[in-house]
Amino acid sequence: MKQSLLLVIVILLALATPVQAQTYDPLHPPNTFRNPDNPEYWKNRPPYEGYFQQDVHYEIQATIDEKTNVITGSMELIYWNNSPDELEFVYFHLYQNAFQPGSYYDDLQKNNDVNPSYGPYEAQKLGTAIAKLRVNQKEVKTELDNTILKVYLPNKLASGESAKFNIDFKTYFDFGSVRRRMKVFYSWGNNLENGYKHYDGVHWYPRISVYDSKFGWTTDQHLGHEFYGDFGTYDVELTFASNYVVEATGFLQNRDTVLPEELRAKLDIKNFADKPWNEAPSVITPYDAKATKTWKYHAENVHDFAFTADPTYRIGEVEWNGIKAISMAQEMHASKWQNAASFTADVVKVYSEDFGKYVYHKIIVADARDGMEYPMITLDGGKDPGYRGLLAHEVGHNWFFGQVGNNETYRAFMDEGFTQFLTTWALEKIDGIYRVKGKIKSNYVKRFAKPEKVRERRLYRTYITDAAKNSNTTLNTHSDAYNGALRHGGGYRQVYYKTAAMLYNLEYVLGEELFLNAMKNYFNEWKICHPYPMDFRNSVIHFTKVDLNWFFDQWLETSKSIDYGVQSIRKTENKDEYVIKFEREAGMQMPIDFNVTTKSGSIYKYHIPNTWFTKKIDAKVLPKWHGWDKLHPTYEATITVPDKIKDVVIDPSRRMADANMLNNSRKFPLSVNFDSKLPRTTDWTKYEVFARPDFWYNSYDGVKSGVHAHGSYLNYRHVFAADLWFNTGFGQGTFDSTVNVNAFDQLSLRFEYHTSLDKFSKGSNLYLAAKTVDGLEAYKIGFDKKDASGNNRLFL
Ligand SMILES: [Zn+2]
Repeated sequence: MKQSLLLVIVILLALATPVQAQTYDPLHPPNTFRNPDNPEYWKNRPPYEGYFQQDVHYEIQATIDEKTNVITGSMELIYWNNSPDELEFVYFHLYQNAFQPGSYYDDLQKNNDVNPSYGPYEAQKLGTAIAKLRVNQKEVKTELDNTILKVYLPNKLASGESAKFNIDFKTYFDFGSVRRRMKVFYSWGNNLENGYKHYDGVHWYPRISVYDSKFGWTTDQHLGHEFYGDFGTYDVELTFASNYVVEATGFLQNRDTVLPEELRAKLDIKNFADKPWNEAPSVITPYDAKATKTWKYHAENVHDFAFTADPTYRIGEVEWNGIKAISMAQEMHASKWQNAASFTADVVKVYSEDFGKYVYHKIIVADARDGMEYPMITLDGGKDPGYRGLLAHEVGHNWFFGQVGNNETYRAFMDEGFTQFLTTWALEKIDGIYRVKGKIKSNYVKRFAKPEKVRERRLYRTYITDAAKNSNTTLNTHSDAYNGALRHGGGYRQVYYKTAAMLYNLEYVLGEELFLNAMKNYFNEWKICHPYPMDFRNSVIHFTKVDLNWFFDQWLETSKSIDYGVQSIRKTENKDEYVIKFEREAGMQMPIDFNVTTKSGSIYKYHIPNTWFTKKIDAKVLPKWHGWDKLHPTYEATITVPDKIKDVVIDPSRRMADANMLNNSRKFPLSVNFDSKLPRTTDWTKYEVFARPDFWYNSYDGVKSGVHAHGSYLNYRHVFAADLWFNTGFGQGTFDSTVNVNAFDQLSLRFEYHTSLDKFSKGSNLYLAAKTVDGLEAYKIGFDKKDASGNNRLFL
């Protein structure tokens, strides 16, 4: 009796205590992505009311066979329909089907005059092949169109419900000529007995298409550009031959089994600091064709899963603020990858502090002959210091792509351009404003190579070169719609450079502090969510409370460019008073910062707002100049300075991306240099002249000595080449007996000039030429025009 009473009490107590829900733990199973205590989950912090995104949980077991180069996978996907809509079908991406004869991408390449060659699997149209597919344990109807698989659901999937997909698949690595990202190559040797195969597993499993809040289904065929995926959880087991060293998205669950301390110590990159570059790797785990290891990963708050594996990988690790920065370098390259982990930790620190805290526990940089980003893992290449820009870029993608998961196929500027901006930002913060170069051996190079500014090289030069030629692009364009070109062609490169320039120009417009706070706010609002361009605009506008529609319209929706100039400076009758007249020669409007330098060397700073907003600036603020296109093309600034004016310079910070810098100051921005013939970055802020001494010989004049000079603005406007020779008569007629020895010209001259008249008529040039050489005189003046293809010229 007593005992049974006790039992009843125990049972009652057990029932009264609610079952403890699993607390949020992104590092271990079970899946806690959808938990109310996951601070990153969209439902716990929706960007706006009515917003939704779908949730996924992938569990994949995959074996990578190093003899056949085939991944055999079995996948279970739980898919939650959080949309208000009932779904009758879903779509999956089979990205690897792009790389085969007859694919959409194959057709696009051929129409771009590229004829790909295919490896044996590719030739058999083996990319990702589905062996079995069930939904909620039922066979279903599917429809395959190259890289998109449509799957009809057995029952309609109601709002708030989930469906379970079980898919068996094989994905084939190959060695064809098309750059696939998912790849195999021999990192050492050329067979498994005395060499090593390297694998990058990316876009390798059937990935469900995004059904998003803005546009519903996204069914873009893969044409070599960008990607898009739903956020959620991945539990992935990867089985490799036992000598492989593996890294992947997620937290490694069975470290003690696959990477015990003893093995990890042997693989440490520091052990190979002095190993000569490209020398044969040592054997740490001998290859055994029958022995395998299974690497188990768990990742939450991610929209993709990638891995990289190579028996020659050696590991570096540096921690910042609880985040592990891990480098994976092939042993042959380890000597020049020693700082990769610490550099990466510095990059993570800069981005976390300036743009928003990194939400994952690790970031990998891997020596993988690539330049590509995946959640928590980047595939890179090269060596220090050349690789710094690449590492900073791919790591930067973990902010815009990895955490802020925009639809990059639809609008690539939102991740590529933002990341290009971050790249420059991090390099400047870590290494300073000049590009860090490797050791220079040649004294000539040391003497004459000019230091290159990171921002010019990585961003302004490329943007301005296109803008100055009026071949600017409209950023709000689909990644596959840049004139049907491949890769970065057809203006697609401006997705990177114009966007990055736009962000520096937004900083210029808003001021540093407000800009950075607005960027942080956007990151925090949209991390682990799917923003579109309008969401970015709205986020910045609502945060800053500044009317910036003009700014985003002109940068994102037009191909206009910026051209402000100093037209004149006039002294008035009043004491110390001057009127500076500015003009706007291109369509875009911007506020104007300008400096006035006086004869005595004093500098006076001014700011002309273009709207009601005035940024925080240490300068005298003048009345606003509101205008664009034909509205208020000029502006007169009345200023008082107690000295004569020596120069007036628009935007000394060089952030305003003015596509014609020749009129941005009172003094002509001339730069005269020794013509060293070394590779260099064109200076978009100056008219550049290069000169060198020159020696020549001809039968008529004999030995000639003189100068050669050439110059231009961006190799495009006011392009000239000139030679002036003093002729000695020495050696006259040596090779030509008809020459009248003693009759020669004291001076020879050659001058050629051309400049673009694109402004008046696209593709047209004015040219002039004059020469008195070899006793002959010739003069030319002309005009030519190319047709739209650029192949045919019309001469006048
Ligand atoms: Zn990128």
